Amino acid sequence: MNSKKIIDNKLKDLSKSKFRSGFHLNKKMKKYVEEKGLKLIISHAYDFINNRLRTPNLLNDGKQTPMKQVHPIFIAQHACACCCRNCLEKWHNIPKNKELTNNEVNYIISLLIEWIKREMK
Ligand SMILES: [Zn+2]
Repeated sequence: MNSKKIIDNKLKDLSKSKFRSGFHLNKKMKKYVEEKGLKLIISHAYDFINNRLRTPNLLNDGKQTPMKQVHPIFIAQHACACCCRNCLEKWHNIPKNKELTNNEVNYIISLLIEWIKREMK
């Protein structure tokens, strides 16, 4: 299975979750994405994932990703179950007690960006 197919299937699974599919970009956030451009949004995504999720943070896990009126990437993280290490383990089979690999970070970013692209349509 190629990575595009994996992402596509995962987004399908997520759309079946009432909780996950309840997250959407509002007008203001869509405007933000348009103004900043995807390239900058992707670089923000790397910053957030590397700073907040890469290293296991057991004390704060589940609270490191703000819920609303924040950055489009945070909303994408909730929509894609990439908000904390528990959700990454449960939804994406990424063990929570280890540092994320570059491949895992790239997978997460691809998923978040594809979700944002679909929201922008
Ligand atoms: Zn979570």
